Amino acid sequence: MSTPLETRNELLAKTLVSKLERRHFEAYYCSTAEEAVKKAMSLIPEGSSVAWGGSVTIRESGLTQALHDGNYEVIDRDLAKTPEERDELHHKGLLADFFLSSVNAISEDGVLVNIDGIGNRLAALCFGPKNVIILCGMNKVAQDVDAAVKRARSYAAPVNSMRFMGKTPCASTGTCHNCVSEECICNQVLLTRNCRPAGRIKIILIGEEIGF
Ligand code: SF4
Repeated sequence: MSTPLETRNELLAKTLVSKLERRHFEAYYCSTAEEAVKKAMSLIPEGSSVAWGGSVTIRESGLTQALHDGNYEVIDRDLAKTPEERDELHHKGLLADFFLSSVNAISEDGVLVNIDGIGNRLAALCFGPKNVIILCGMNKVAQDVDAAVKRARSYAAPVNSMRFMGKTPCASTGTCHNCVSEECICNQVLLTRNCRPAGRIKIILIGEEIGF
């Protein structure tokens, strides 16, 4: 029998999938991260080049490892030995066949909210690879766009700043100070409210808490 949280996620995801489709995203719901990885792999033909950003979700789900283990041309920025090489891989990733990411938040009516330090992830999302696959835990769904932006700014960004050991006010206090520090990771804020060309961005919702 499903738990109340599982039921909530399934019901909410059902509505969200149809709202995303109305915005011309391709959208799916998987109850576990394991299923989501299988779904993502089914969307990527063997031999494709695949790049990704800094998402915890795509790593923790096992998706990046599955691609390393399979027959794909992987552009993995984590393997860069220098900042210059990392920067080169970020640029190369913009021409990959597929780009993998998560989102910082998504509103219940299907608007994606993302914040970026350098902007490579947002560039890929806006106008980069011909296909973008997003894995998103239902824990990232917020009631409306304002709540989604708030989640991204006051929760996801401080945690990410800590993860990357940034010298930012939020890394010291755990909350956003609307900083303009040199290592700020909130330099670009992107709302993606519709998908054009239709189907370019494929969103796989996951009925588990994953990422932040
Ligand atoms: S303090 Fe700066 S880096 Fe941290 S969440 Fe706020 S704007 Fe972003």
